[in-house]
Amino acid sequence: MTGIASIPVRQLRGVGPRLEEKLADCGVRQVEDLLFHLPLRYQDRTRVTPIAAARDGDDVVIEGEIRAADVVFGRRRSLMARIQDGSGTLTLRFFHFSAAQKNALGPGTRLRCFGQVRRGSSGMEMYHPEYRQLQEGERPVEETLTPIYPTTAGIGQAQWRNLCAQALNYLQRSPPRDLLPPQRTFDFDLATALQYLHAPPPDAPQAALREGTHPAQLRLALEELVAHNLSLLHLRDQQQREPAPALALREREQQAFLDSLPFTPTDAQRRVMAEIAADLAKPCPMLRLVQGDVGSGKTLVAAVAALQAIANDSQVAIMAPTELLAEQHWSNFNGWFQSLGITMEWLSGRIRGRKRETALARIVSGEAALVIGTHALFQQDVAFARLGLVIVDEQHRFGVHQRLALTEKNAPGLGRPHQLVMTATPIPRTLSMVAYADLDCSIIDELPPGRKPVSTALVDSSRRSEVVERVAAACEQGRQAYWVCTLIEESDALQAQAAEATAAELRLALPQLDIGLIHGRQKPAEKAAVMHAFKAGELALLVATTVIEVGVDVPNASLMIIENPERLGLAQLHQLRGRVGRGAEASHCVLLYQTPLSANGRERLGAMRESSDGFYIAEKDLALRGPGEVLGTRQTGLMEFRIAELPAHQHLLPEVQTLAATLRRHHPALIEPLIQRWTGANRQFGQV
Ligand code: ADP
Ligand code: MG
Repeated sequence: MTGIASIPVRQLRGVGPRLEEKLADCGVRQVEDLLFHLPLRYQDRTRVTPIAAARDGDDVVIEGEIRAADVVFGRRRSLMARIQDGSGTLTLRFFHFSAAQKNALGPGTRLRCFGQVRRGSSGMEMYHPEYRQLQEGERPVEETLTPIYPTTAGIGQAQWRNLCAQALNYLQRSPPRDLLPPQRTFDFDLATALQYLHAPPPDAPQAALREGTHPAQLRLALEELVAHNLSLLHLRDQQQREPAPALALREREQQAFLDSLPFTPTDAQRRVMAEIAADLAKPCPMLRLVQGDVGSGKTLVAAVAALQAIANDSQVAIMAPTELLAEQHWSNFNGWFQSLGITMEWLSGRIRGRKRETALARIVSGEAALVIGTHALFQQDVAFARLGLVIVDEQHRFGVHQRLALTEKNAPGLGRPHQLVMTATPIPRTLSMVAYADLDCSIIDELPPGRKPVSTALVDSSRRSEVVERVAAACEQGRQAYWVCTLIEESDALQAQAAEATAAELRLALPQLDIGLIHGRQKPAEKAAVMHAFKAGELALLVATTVIEVGVDVPNASLMIIENPERLGLAQLHQLRGRVGRGAEASHCVLLYQTPLSANGRERLGAMRESSDGFYIAEKDLALRGPGEVLGTRQTGLMEFRIAELPAHQHLLPEVQTLAATLRRHHPALIEPLIQRWTGANRQFGQV
């Protein structure tokens, strides 16, 4: 018997070359792939609802007789038809209609309609229902709930339904192979779960299906999470198959460096430093994630790791997601390492021509021990002499594959460098179990002593002038402040415009203050000059876009105003707020929001006021906005599951790990088909 996994979709009725190509674009090539194209939600067309029983907001099927149909001229011209059954009447309303349509809805016509009921000006109404004239001896309504599929690439609902219904026929003849070892059953094996989810019976618990908690969904979510976990572990294996330089800890050098600092590391920093030191000493690539709250001192931990590598005559690359953050690292590391005689090199997209050639030469010759930069480090012509350690800051903005590209820049035969990844803000534990399963995790769960929590106030924008006065008062007392302009648009140009307008307005309102402006469209030298002036206290107020979100460190700044904070995610707000509260002064943050706030917005800003714990805030962010937003990967489509959902399915994670381990130990041959099934043929193997 041919397995369902090897039957091409071409064999289905209605699939010609054009449709076949469109399906392939969605990763659907075999009949089995269709079965894993799962509905997003369902409609209930299994029964006819008496008109009197239909409630506002319900999606229902009704049947009845047209009593009257008229074109009415209200604010918009519309066709209204009164339909009546034994229980009551309802108005069908069409804003777009043809003369033929109007004529077909004459009094006495019997219709079956499907649509959403809403309370309108003429009682219960249905706008643009799907409808059909009822014939004598009409078939009964649908026998199963009607699936609504995710549609892309110009394949409509009806087409998906037709294709999936055909795939279900195959499912009964040759069920797909069950690839999971025996587990908690949820009372569903793979085939029955698929059958159920494509065609749920009329009495299926709709609320559970909506929430993703139905056992059939759990069975599939479990499998999908296992597949995802295995693909990351596979990626880890691939990297660890190659040797890495063993970089022994040089205690004397490390101690001399720590002694040169104006502070001593926290216990948490020490613990994480020791974890990293032990990894680096092994001849196998370290794959480690360091998480810590904003201001917990991740940079120092990175510096100690870099020092260990450099002391072993290896090169180190530090990569940051923005130019500004890379510059911050440059100035930190320069301050720490210059006296130690460590040679450093800078590489960003703006370094071109001769300067770039010189930089590349110093990197490939090994003359530069420490290279700091942005994405520019990924570029093809960048090569290292003996790269021992790659440090990626704020990793969630980079894809796994970008990180990998950087670890492949060593001269041949020198193995793979160790990798240290640092996240900007904590990632909820469950999410890091899923998204970073390829990395070991270290947590800096302590802030340096003496930090005062930032008190946060919510102020509605009608009180903007009070806030401006508050800024003036703080600055007159010698404090410094940030005024952060936010825009949803990712466009640098629009953000810069908004910040310029705000700066102009504030300069007018506060002529006594020295006000600076920083945004992503400025030249690096200009940005550096502004930051320098602010750091030196020459500017009292810094108007900024979210470019200052990461890394900026000015201890005397103790007030931050964030405009339109409701537009940002919690992690980003927390990161921004982390720019204050770094000095001895008590610090304040004002969230200047626009009314009206959505319920979700209110809850998010409330969480900011309530807590300054990044781990707590991360959990809230996950619950309120979902994993794609928390990881910053929504735009790139990474971490998009077909059925698994976080945090809804987080209770499955312990079992996911057990199953993945069992498969690796006892059923290695099942791993690849499992990954193929869930990550689809068009996705890159091992992608997060
Ligand atoms: P983050 O974890 O957010 O990247 P940073 O590494 O930028 O934090 O550190 C924030 C500030 O705290 C920096 O000014 C850094 O020099 C300082 N710092 C780091 N470790 C300590 C410590 N153990 N004691 C006091 N200050 C510290
Ligand atoms: Mg940092």
